[in-house]
Amino acid sequence: MNVFSLLERTARRWPNAGAVYLGGELVHSWAGLRDRALSLAVALRERGGAAVRVAIATDNCPEYLELMFGAWAAQAAVVPVNYKLHAREMAQIVEDADAAWVFASSGLADGLREALPAPWRERIVVIGSSGYQALFSAEPAELPVTDSQALAWLFYTSGTTGRSKGAMLSHRNLMAMTLAHLADVEAVNEDCSQIHAAPMSHGSGLYIPAYVARGARQVVPASQGFEPDEFLDLCDLHPGCGSFLAPTMVQRLRRAAQAAGRKPSGLRTIVYGGGPMYVEEMKKSLAVFGNVFAQIYGQGESPMTITWLRREDHAAGDDAILGSVGLPRTGVEVRVVGPDGRSLPPGETGEIVCRGDVVMSGYWRNAAGTDEVLRGDWLYTGDMGAFDARGYLTLRDRSKDVVISGGSNIYPREVEEALLTHPGVSEASVVGQPDAEWGEAVIAFIVRTPGVQVSVAELDANCLDRIARFKRPKRYLFIDALPKNSYGKVLKRALREQLDGGPGETR
Ligand code: AMP
Repeated sequence: MNVFSLLERTARRWPNAGAVYLGGELVHSWAGLRDRALSLAVALRERGGAAVRVAIATDNCPEYLELMFGAWAAQAAVVPVNYKLHAREMAQIVEDADAAWVFASSGLADGLREALPAPWRERIVVIGSSGYQALFSAEPAELPVTDSQALAWLFYTSGTTGRSKGAMLSHRNLMAMTLAHLADVEAVNEDCSQIHAAPMSHGSGLYIPAYVARGARQVVPASQGFEPDEFLDLCDLHPGCGSFLAPTMVQRLRRAAQAAGRKPSGLRTIVYGGGPMYVEEMKKSLAVFGNVFAQIYGQGESPMTITWLRREDHAAGDDAILGSVGLPRTGVEVRVVGPDGRSLPPGETGEIVCRGDVVMSGYWRNAAGTDEVLRGDWLYTGDMGAFDARGYLTLRDRSKDVVISGGSNIYPREVEEALLTHPGVSEASVVGQPDAEWGEAVIAFIVRTPGVQVSVAELDANCLDRIARFKRPKRYLFIDALPKNSYGKVLKRALREQLDGGPGETR
């Protein structure tokens, strides 16, 4: 079983239908995409052999699709490289993966050439160059039989906690992810479109097999990134649009739609995840876009697939559900365990573990890292959470982000939720600071909403109304923007480093 088979079937069923678009412009039909991938596979195998790694370092572009499917048809594995990384970080990934081919956009190729040792430079092919086009000259070949356990996607973690590791995902893992997406999140068809606004090296790219399996259009914005107004235009242009967006992107889109008074006609589904979506923000987004949302909780090691919050759950009007990450995905077992590895009852917080066909087989060439997170066949996610009696999982925080003050565990997420109920708070992030008396003290970083007043006394009152007294921040620091990594995740480590930067305001 090879993920490529999804494209093969779609190309046979709808050979001439539009498959890949750049903005409103048609780039390939399904048959065209299949043939390009199959002829690229011939070139990849001739020069690199099978079972090699093919790195792709580019901002979103239509070529991503032929490269992905071409690599799979060659029985090679894709190494998606986040284009927002520093060239040195990219080079580190390329070297660690020992990639035989490095496909890079013209904007990134020079940096990579400088950052990689000399012998590696020959492996770089600039996407769109004449050398690149020459790789598509062979007659499309037959797809060879592929072992479903073969490596298909070597997914480097975002590295918020140190050096990134390559999660090894097989064709079987990607297929399990794809089936779960179609079963749980949304059943798309040939009248639908996927807009690639988030990086194709991450969430947006991982949804490609599900959309391709059903013949849904692949739309890359002309900006090759996320411009809220352009995104809204594309939703009016293409049918049945769905997209994966990080929570911060949902917020930007909501603001843009509100500012323009728009509700795009073709917007069908926004799947969000990858970081916390706060209840207040979700309510605002539901008011603007209607019931188009589904949330996923996953991680590179169990890609996009641990739990999901259904569309129906968003309409339930239940804040506890809206603040949760939903129910375990089809085909995935999820437990919350204590330090001894035993399951905890509903209501008790512990580490989230999961198992199923979607879970990686380990980290690439990193047995020690693998042993840390894969115990038996359970993946230890490093996320803390609790089930409720109905089976909804609420995520607390990464275990290392929990603040322990006066002997009590304080989960930053619930303090952040309380702070965000104030209209003057645009973004909030809470961390612990070493404290002689309490062990750790709760400190809140606040980004103000432009034009809205907010005082520490008001924020304190908001917290007193919603959470236990001891969880209230002891100090507030007002900053212009939260530090985020290239996937939009807040870097708490960077916030902790800022703690010595000034006194802030004490309540
Ligand atoms: P990555 O491997 O880069 O996708 O990061 C995965 C991590 O992002 C998870 O372990 C969680 O800590 C966080 N995460 C993913 N989905 C969600 C979500 N829906 N809500 C809150 N945090 C999330």
